[in-house]
Amino acid sequence: MTVTAKFEENAVVPVTHTLTVVVDPANSGKVYKTGADEITAPVTMAEGATIDLTAQKAAGYDFVEWKIGENSVGTDESYTFTMGTEDVTLVAVFEPIPEHVHKWGAPAYSWNGLNCTAERVCELDHTHIETETVTATLTSTTAPTCTEAGVNIYTAVFTNTAFAPQTTTTEIPALGHDWKEPVYTWSADHTTCTATRECGNDASHNIVEVSTATVTTEGGVTTYTATFTNSVFKTQTYTYVPAASITVTMSEYGFLSLYADKAYIVPSGLKAYIYTGISGRNLTYKMLNVIPAYTGVFFEGNPNTTYTLYETTTTATYPENMLSGRLTEEVVPNDGNVHYILTRLEGTNKGGLYWPKGTVNGVGAFTCKAGKAYLTIPASAGVAPRYFTLRGQACEEVTAVDEVEADGDGRYYDVLGREVRDPQPQQIYIRKGQKVLYIGE
Ligand SMILES: [Zn+2]
Ligand SMILES: [Zn+2]
Repeated sequence: MTVTAKFEENAVVPVTHTLTVVVDPANSGKVYKTGADEITAPVTMAEGATIDLTAQKAAGYDFVEWKIGENSVGTDESYTFTMGTEDVTLVAVFEPIPEHVHKWGAPAYSWNGLNCTAERVCELDHTHIETETVTATLTSTTAPTCTEAGVNIYTAVFTNTAFAPQTTTTEIPALGHDWKEPVYTWSADHTTCTATRECGNDASHNIVEVSTATVTTEGGVTTYTATFTNSVFKTQTYTYVPAASITVTMSEYGFLSLYADKAYIVPSGLKAYIYTGISGRNLTYKMLNVIPAYTGVFFEGNPNTTYTLYETTTTATYPENMLSGRLTEEVVPNDGNVHYILTRLEGTNKGGLYWPKGTVNGVGAFTCKAGKAYLTIPASAGVAPRYFTLRGQACEEVTAVDEVEADGDGRYYDVLGREVRDPQPQQIYIRKGQKVLYIGE
């Protein structure tokens, strides 16, 4: 027998170990066999065998390192692992990428006209910029005054609350004073003159200066001169020229008539009457303060006293006045009416009205002296007393018994012994047995 010994080559059984790949934390990334598939299961490898690995981070993670046990074996995403003599767990460590939190710098603001731009930059990443431009709106106004400029305040308000409202101002020019023309006011006695310059914008700016006038008199003309320290005021003068005047002297019984071509002011102490009608047998009168030109008037004042009458102007007229007169001595023709002139009867101290010389019971032509007035009672009145006496303001009829002849037989007789009912001025008569000069006006 043949015994054949057969041998067969023993198979070499390689020694292998297991590579387990873990991702930490879970789902933070994947590990691939480089250029191939993701490794999802343990890999059996012979000792000394190698495998190229690639770590790929998931979104939101960064790769950190490869670790075996507590040992870091690489920080590169590519790693070549060589199998050792035992099973290995290889950990691919990822870490979450920290969320970016802007670290904004302080906002900066810039103006372009009324447009305001706000901007802030992230200090961690200067490409992170927030910016906003808005147009400012008018939010308040301070009005200008004469000397102070006013201000308009505009405010820019941003949608981004990180940006604070911003303001800018525009100036309103000062108005300047609105000076009016100076006004000058004299005191009533012209001793002071007040100059005022008003500011139309603000009365508190008004300038007022009171000047005490210097007074000079020359040729009866008085000049008041007011000068001012403030140069905006001009020197003012007031000149007083006395009005033209006449003087009148009361008769010895305190009356006088006047007829003039000028108007006069009745001076104090003198009363001026016109007569406006006949009431019963008495005259009604009116007292005047100003006598218009061409107006007959009777004055009552102190006997033998002179008064000064200053010229004036007036528009007053008194058509009802029964007094008329003449500027120059002339004959008043007979007009059929009854006339009376101012006179005084011898033997009395009474002024009165009496028929003029040359008339018959007051009717007829007579001579009116220059500047004198006379009374006319129309014939139509039907009443024409022989005399009127002047008693204060009243002018009333008197009877011969009552007044003229009260003192015994006061009748007048001519030199032939005939009674004279209408004695004429400047004529000589016999009265109470005496020769008397009848004094008219
Ligand atoms: Zn940032
Ligand atoms: Zn002003």
